[in-house]
Formats: sequence, structure tokens, C-alpha cells
Amino acid sequence: MNLPETDTSIFHSLRFVLVETSHPGNVGAAARAIKTMGFHRLVLVRPRFDNVLTHEEAIAFASGAQDILENAEIVDNIEKALDGCRFAAAVSARLREFSPPVLTPRKFAETVLPDVRINCALVFGNERYGLPNDAVESCQALIHIPANPVYSSLNLAQAVQVLAYESRIALLRNDTSVTENSPVGFHGQPASVEQIHGMLTHLEEALTAIGFLNPDNPKKLMPRLKRLFSRSGLETEEVNILRGIARQIEKRLTTGQRE
Ligand code: SAH
Repeated sequence: MNLPETDTSIFHSLRFVLVETSHPGNVGAAARAIKTMGFHRLVLVRPRFDNVLTHEEAIAFASGAQDILENAEIVDNIEKALDGCRFAAAVSARLREFSPPVLTPRKFAETVLPDVRINCALVFGNERYGLPNDAVESCQALIHIPANPVYSSLNLAQAVQVLAYESRIALLRNDTSVTENSPVGFHGQPASVEQIHGMLTHLEEALTAIGFLNPDNPKKLMPRLKRLFSRSGLETEEVNILRGIARQIEKRLTTGQRE
């Protein structure tokens, strides 16, 4: 099959974020997976080896995709990796109790990704222990590759390949009507990951201030609220309303006054 050039903005903007990767070979193989499917951005959060991008194993496994390694970013936390993103999906071998909505790679690629307003990130976990819960909870979706239920854990770079492949196929199909069926359903400007994080922190403070949230016994209130918000596809204006509510709660408590 002769595929057209894939130099569109989503091919440049979609970021593949690898969290706490241990094996340089996997970083190289992930770079290769990304490049073969026409993508460019690789971001590493706290890799085990600081010099992983120049590690000989990474270079060997990257093969002709060394430019992806050369341009990869290394950051020290997930917030920096998601800076400016409007949709982050945790790619996880494990389903969890407090997970955001679960999508297959294909569903993500066909419904969320083609909306150019949504700057997306795919977040992959460590080879041995996967993604920590708090990283999953800061994402708006969990993507699970429906593999063999009795042996469902793929090699990290192979999981990157599956996501990159499905994303490529969906983008090449270039069918804008698919976004109409988006489970996210944005109408206005999608809120950024950073805005959602800021709102949740603010809400947590306000709920603590009125005694609804007990910091000594928080139960699962915040994970449940995160899950609720991740299901709803928050827009910037809605985040601003929620922050306004939190602000008013705090103001009432300190001054007893309506704003
Ligand atoms: N033992 C780990 C699996 C780590 S595999 C665990 O239980 O979580 C390394 C990474 O590859 C995972 O964090 C995930 O990002 C990706 N991965 C592997 N298999 C996957 C699957 N079936 N679905 C989605 N992601 C998968």
C-alpha cells in the first residue's frame, strides 16, 4: 500500500510519554515504533539512566530512528511531560477500581485523536510495575490493549507500536465525522490537563475548608471526583466555573460575605 505523507500537525503534536523506563533498549525500540508510524515526539519522565538517549543499546534498538532520540525530552515529573496537553491517556496493562473511562487503542485513535484542538499525550508505564495510580488518575482516559486475558502484558515498545499504528491508521483515514461520536464530546475549548489539575487542587482545598473532606480520613473522595470529571470531558469554561465555586466557598469562610 502506498501511503500518503503524514506531515500533519497531529503527527507532530501527539506525544508518547514513557514514565520511569528501565531498559535503554525499550527507549530505542519505542523511538523506532514512533518514527515508523510517522510520529515525532518522545518524552521521558525520570528514566532509570540519565544518559539513556545516548546509551548504545537505545541507539542500536532505535536503528534509523536516532533523530527521535536526539529530539526526545527528559523531564522529572508527569506534570511537565503533560504541559500544554488537553487530553492525556494512560496506557495500562491493568484495569483499576478508580480508573478514568477505558478505551481500546482503536476507539481512542478514531474518536479522540482526530480532533485537532486536543493536544494529546499517551502515557506508558515502567516495564516491571507499570504506571502508578496517581499518574493514571491525572489522565482523562485509560487505554487498555485487549490482549490475552491470561497473559496481557506486552513489552513496552510493542505497546507503543500498537498505539502508534492505530493512531496512524485512524489519522490516514482522515474522517472528520468520527469526532462527532467522541466519547469526550467537547463543544468548547477542551480544558488542559494543567487546568484540570489546578481545579482539583483548588476544589480539594475548599472541600477540606468546609469539612466535607477530612485530610486524616480522605477515603476515596478525590479519586472518585477525578473519575467523575474524567468521564465528562471538561471544557475550560467549566473548569473556571468549578474554580469560581471553590473560590466563593473560601471567601465565605474567611469573610462571611458573598463576592
Ligand atoms: N507489569 C506491568 C506491565 C508493564 S508493561 C503492569 O502490571 O502494569 C510496560 C507498559 O507497557 C505498561 O505500563 C503499559 O504502558 C504498556 N502495556 C503493556 N501491556 C499493555 C496492555 N495490554 N494494554 C495497555 N498497555 C500495555
